[in-house]
Amino acid sequence: MRCYCVLHHGQDLELVEKPIPEPQGTEVLLKVRAAGVCHTDLHLWEGHYDLGGGKKLTLAERGIKPPLTLSHEIVGEVVSSGPGAQQAGGVKPGRVALVHPWIGCGECAACKRGEENICIKPQALGVARPGGFAEYVVVPHPRYLVDIDGLDIAEAAPLACAGVTTYSAIKKFGERIGTDPVVIIGAGGLGLMAIEVLKALGGKGAIVVDLDPVKREAALAAGALLAIDARAPDAAQQIQQATGGGAREVLDLVGATPTVSLAMASAARGGHVVICGLMGGDLTLALPVIPMRPLTLQGSYVGTLQELQELVDLVKRTKMKAIPVRQRPLAEANEALQDLHHGRVVGRTVLVP
Ligand SMILES: [Zn+2]
Ligand SMILES: [Zn+2]
Repeated sequence: MRCYCVLHHGQDLELVEKPIPEPQGTEVLLKVRAAGVCHTDLHLWEGHYDLGGGKKLTLAERGIKPPLTLSHEIVGEVVSSGPGAQQAGGVKPGRVALVHPWIGCGECAACKRGEENICIKPQALGVARPGGFAEYVVVPHPRYLVDIDGLDIAEAAPLACAGVTTYSAIKKFGERIGTDPVVIIGAGGLGLMAIEVLKALGGKGAIVVDLDPVKREAALAAGALLAIDARAPDAAQQIQQATGGGAREVLDLVGATPTVSLAMASAARGGHVVICGLMGGDLTLALPVIPMRPLTLQGSYVGTLQELQELVDLVKRTKMKAIPVRQRPLAEANEALQDLHHGRVVGRTVLVP
């Protein structure tokens, strides 16, 4: 089978021919039908995260080394399965499913609680295990297959990361979303997805902040109440004005020093800031601000299998609109990564083998 792999961080993905894997035990072999291109793929391709102050967290320190087959937003068609998977059911050849990629070790306390996404020994597809930039992918157990009947295959793929990440983050705000607009920083694939999820959940609306006028336009077209230029010197004041004195919920999908600073500066007293983005940097905080304002600062990392199932149900039930998706052949994996790296993608690119 053809795979596009990271053989050396920072260099073009290379076409590698590999034997089609034989599923063992509970494993299921899927033929990849669509594989989304996410910002995390860029980090995995570059090989590090920026911790600020010149410090970097390398993937090697997290036990992730090339060769890597990226893409964790996968829709595939069941081809075959191991004997253990057949006992578990649901692996009829030809079944088309969205793959939950945020898989853990299955044994630690987090996994036992169903929070495999925060496992201490993560086994995520497209990160620790081979992902979707290939003709076939192995999924460790049929329980990670989510039915998407009635949904478009390419439009469903981004639900596995952009979708579940924003759904899990927005849920952390609780009932506030019904009464106060959420400030969303970053109008890339995740930002547009967050606008749709918020609408589907009956939220009051989104105030979107981005540097790029094209992405702000896309956010307004998706139904954002307002789009603010992140570079405007008075961006924080504009947010405060639009929210009647300060944002009660801020979702930072960028996670860089300037965006988290903006989130803190524009939050209301009692505000709740959730950070999902991994662009990197650091922040010095005056600690009395946390109790005195008082602020909630929370991280959110992708989502659980249950949350992905809830999201897919929500999409089906509310006919939630998909974000703009551009399909490209798998052979254009490098061009697709470069376009994302240079900010030229509105919505999501999905590769099709
Ligand atoms: Zn992702
Ligand atoms: Zn675990």
